[in-house]
Amino acid sequence: IKKIESLGQRALTLANNGPLDSSVKLFTELPISELTLQGLERAHYAEMTEIQHKSLPYALAKRDVLGAAKTGSGKTLAFLIPILEILYRHQWTQLDGLGALVISPTRELAMQIFEVLCKIGRYHKLSAGLIIGGKQVEEEKAIMGRMNILVCTPGRLLQHMDETAGFDCDNLQVLVLDEADRILDLGFKKTMNAIIENLPRQRQTLLFSATQTKSVKDLARLSLERPEYVGVHEKD
Ligand code: ADP
Ligand code: MG
Repeated sequence: IKKIESLGQRALTLANNGPLDSSVKLFTELPISELTLQGLERAHYAEMTEIQHKSLPYALAKRDVLGAAKTGSGKTLAFLIPILEILYRHQWTQLDGLGALVISPTRELAMQIFEVLCKIGRYHKLSAGLIIGGKQVEEEKAIMGRMNILVCTPGRLLQHMDETAGFDCDNLQVLVLDEADRILDLGFKKTMNAIIENLPRQRQTLLFSATQTKSVKDLARLSLERPEYVGVHEKD
């Protein structure tokens, strides 16, 4: 317990100190659990990418983050590591229900995120599900209520919120909106608004988007509270 408390304390201190020093490069230098570090090591992740370096100190301190970074910059770990850590610090168990929700624009992307989650989260005792539509509605209904982390596409998530008995988000700690610009481009604005209305207001939200269009800003205003803005600029 002491160890867990000190992770939370160290994360707060780190975030209060502002941006990470550029000499800090490794995941092992962050206040994160042995379980996550072992998962990262096993997946051969050692050095942080720029977006991870810039956003992790805030996300680990449970602050809202609005992250701008293009494809391939490493956004997946920038939100999956905080999810694992926040639930770990809460000593989350299967009985605590849904603790984190990742919303992704497409099935393909959701599947990729889920794969990375399974890899780096392998040493945690958390359940995770992939909810991406298709024919498996009934199978999904049966497992939804037992999952601690869900990776979903917007349409199917809202369908379960409306239809699936025993699925509730009352305990949700972390919401991730990945590729928010693409979610909106695909016409999910209303769906996203309805989903967010179904979620507890007391939560952490991490929103990532390659571009900052007006509709992304609207979604950010609706979903984030006093976010920390982090961006990675293109280099030639
Ligand atoms: P994005 O979501 O920003 O498009 P991804 O999270 O999919 O980027 O990462 C892009 C690629 O970089 C993936 O192949 C991923 O495994 C790799 N990657 C991400 N973070 C790291 C890291 N810290 N060290 C090495 N490779 C990384
Ligand atoms: Mg991505």
